[in-house]
Amino acid sequence: MSDVKETSITVEVVYRGIFQKTLAQRICRSIVLAARKRGHTGTAFARYGDSPERNGVPAKQFAVVAINNLELEASMAKYEPAVVDVTIAVDDTLVKGVESWAWYGRQPIWKPIRKDGFLLVTSTNTPDEVLAQTDTALRPYTLVIVPGGASFAGLWVFKDDHTDYRCLGALAKVSPDWVRLEDVKALIKEQTKDDGAVQSAQYGYDGAKLRPVKAGEGTSGHEVLQFEKPGWTTMRPGIIVNARKPGERNPQYKKYGARTLRPVVNFDTCIKCTMCWLDRPDECFEVTPEGHYEVVYQACIGCGICAQVCPVKDCIVMVDELKFEDHEDKWQFWKKDHDGYNKWFETKSGVSANPQVRTPPARQEGSGNANPSANPTSASGGDD
Ligand code: SF4
Ligand code: SF4
Repeated sequence: MSDVKETSITVEVVYRGIFQKTLAQRICRSIVLAARKRGHTGTAFARYGDSPERNGVPAKQFAVVAINNLELEASMAKYEPAVVDVTIAVDDTLVKGVESWAWYGRQPIWKPIRKDGFLLVTSTNTPDEVLAQTDTALRPYTLVIVPGGASFAGLWVFKDDHTDYRCLGALAKVSPDWVRLEDVKALIKEQTKDDGAVQSAQYGYDGAKLRPVKAGEGTSGHEVLQFEKPGWTTMRPGIIVNARKPGERNPQYKKYGARTLRPVVNFDTCIKCTMCWLDRPDECFEVTPEGHYEVVYQACIGCGICAQVCPVKDCIVMVDELKFEDHEDKWQFWKKDHDGYNKWFETKSGVSANPQVRTPPARQEGSGNANPSANPTSASGGDD
């Protein structure tokens, strides 16, 4: 029997569609299995509306744990829990807002978290850096940074870098009534026979940084993006949905919510070869009057293809999305303030805007986020 006061707990895992699907499944399943070790019951499931998933588009899976089957059934009478006790975001750029293709508008990452609940975020940034990109809180919660960067793999592969074990360890720290660290470690030992994996859970527990967040903390800088759902009386006969016209972008869906990295362009070194424009997904570039290709940041999904195909070294550099606070296009900035733009390019990318100047060693080694190969769709990510 359990000695906990609540009768159930709901955990959601917010992840990048396809790239992190298996990771989310493993976390949710392990939460249930670890909770069962102390006599709880539970179930794990995906959000119906996210299927089929899209590359990088935020999606959710859930774990519900209860003290008995009756309470579990009572907690399960919904496809998608409107209120959760804990959210686990397995990519820190998700704190900039979640816009599932099945939803209407961008939602703050904390939207379903109950008052005094927990937001766990895997990140190499500090709690304050992550909070600075999280929508202003309407109620208090605790932000928990789980040590480690975003873990990506493709549709058929899983990157076993222990992110799931670290998340489980951190969860045991904030919800010990439901998931105990010793149960998590015992489960991992049974499943893997790997002491290193067990240690990763302990590392997640010890290394998790807790940052209480008060109402009013966070940023008000993100675009408010809410739409009215057309009711059945206002829909056209036959439920006709207008297609977009060629060259028109969907005003109901901003693609930047799918982005972990964003491209920044060195217009000085661009040779106007058109390769980025030819290989891009739909409508993510504008052609400038001078023949440059300008990224439309409202439409860019951060796939990294432009950086992969660009023949000029470091002309397009993929950079951690958390480093940016706007989605404004940048060619006009370069036109009006050439030196100011190049300074911005260098600050963001860590790469010199002048190709004659040697790039710092850290960048040359391809480390950090300014690295196209870190993108999930690149060869090293392996979406194949
Ligand atoms: S990363 Fe490049 S190719 Fe991909 S969507 Fe953005 S601008 Fe287009
Ligand atoms: S691929 Fe690179 S060099 Fe070619 S047009 Fe695009 S940005 Fe310029």
